[in-house]
Amino acid sequence: MKNSPPIKDPRTWTGEASLDEHDQVQLRDAGIREAVAYAATHSPFYNRLFAEEQIDAEAVTDARTLESLPFTTKGDLGRLGRDFWCVGDDQIVDISTTSGTSGEPTLYPMTAGDIARLGRNEFLSFQCAGIARADTVLLAVTMDRCFIAGLAYYEGLRQIGSTVLRCGAGAPGHLLAMVEKLRPKVIVSVPSFLKIVGEFGASQGISVAGSSVEKLICIGEPLRAADHSLNPLGEILKAQWNAELFSTYGITELATSFCECDAGAGGHLHPSLLHAEIVDEEGRTVPGGQVGELVATTFGVEAMPLIRFRTGDMTYLRREQCECGRVTPRIGPILGRRNQMMKIKGTTLYPSAVQRILDGIEGVRDYVMVVTSPTPLSDELEILVALVDEVAESSEMVGHRLQGELKVKPRIRIESIENIERFQHSQNLRKKQRFIDRRAAPLH
Ligand SMILES: [Zn+2]
Repeated sequence: MKNSPPIKDPRTWTGEASLDEHDQVQLRDAGIREAVAYAATHSPFYNRLFAEEQIDAEAVTDARTLESLPFTTKGDLGRLGRDFWCVGDDQIVDISTTSGTSGEPTLYPMTAGDIARLGRNEFLSFQCAGIARADTVLLAVTMDRCFIAGLAYYEGLRQIGSTVLRCGAGAPGHLLAMVEKLRPKVIVSVPSFLKIVGEFGASQGISVAGSSVEKLICIGEPLRAADHSLNPLGEILKAQWNAELFSTYGITELATSFCECDAGAGGHLHPSLLHAEIVDEEGRTVPGGQVGELVATTFGVEAMPLIRFRTGDMTYLRREQCECGRVTPRIGPILGRRNQMMKIKGTTLYPSAVQRILDGIEGVRDYVMVVTSPTPLSDELEILVALVDEVAESSEMVGHRLQGELKVKPRIRIESIENIERFQHSQNLRKKQRFIDRRAAPLH
């Protein structure tokens, strides 16, 4: 154990955009065999788990046999963090952390090879979004604070050879000045920050719609509904910037992200880097197109590889060929967190779906959702809403809009904006909460 792993040269990895289905299966199964064998011999956690569960790593040869292995959970990572580390400290060149919105952040160590793999992922993702060597790309993301994303984008763009402007996510004025001076074609940022930049520009008499920016790569927040149509924030950005939108979704623990191509119909998966499964509540694999929890196994990771990691994110896989010509699987929009899923009168519902509708109602100023579980099999959702104008709007109007789209009618209670804000900060978390879960704690 703790032997120095061979570092792969990312330039030798295959360009998977052009792979056919047969080659992808070969690549996937080879990745699975290598990942399981490496984890069994290098990871104290998997070494012990496989011994305890009498798992023969050599018998795991493809996607089907992989399904016989137990899941790895965020709870495992939290309890046994260092047992997942496969290399000695002398091999580690960076330690990133998860954002830690719930509980302690997880440490994510990387070797030089892992940074190359991280960059390779973004190299392929940015290629999907049509970014080329001659382009100038402005990174309006957090580059420090141990976030993995900024590092990943920078490394990926370096592999492409684009010109990078590391503006960070703090100052709209600085960003607009850089746009005017250096005329970037692409901005990578969080959608709500891009909206603030657009509004700031308008207040200064600068129209971002007329700027050099043609593409917005949007991270960290959903841009689309389950059917891939733009959500209200996506619509605002598209009109405001007059730019093409690409949604990308990444997970720190997997050091992998999935980015849309210009078809905008799911983030492409790169088969040399990761294998994805979608499982139901009982942990069984579901057919393509069906919603379930994303479970993933990383390939080529040296410091902290994960086998069948339960992400907690609910989505679906599309396997049919994409309009862009690629046959790599695509991950649909993230519909919500598994532990936020609600069962209301037999209908499955995620807070993000409710949020999408409420964000689209002009008369709604702000809101907070509170879910309770009066009986074990059924949840109850109450939405506290502050209206822009209480005389012109009513709880019935909000209720009808929700019922029309969700097929269930949550309880609506009109509250003052002060009360809504008090609720949003009642859990003493740094970020304001629009979803308050008062059900019994989930098992995982
Ligand atoms: Zn595509």
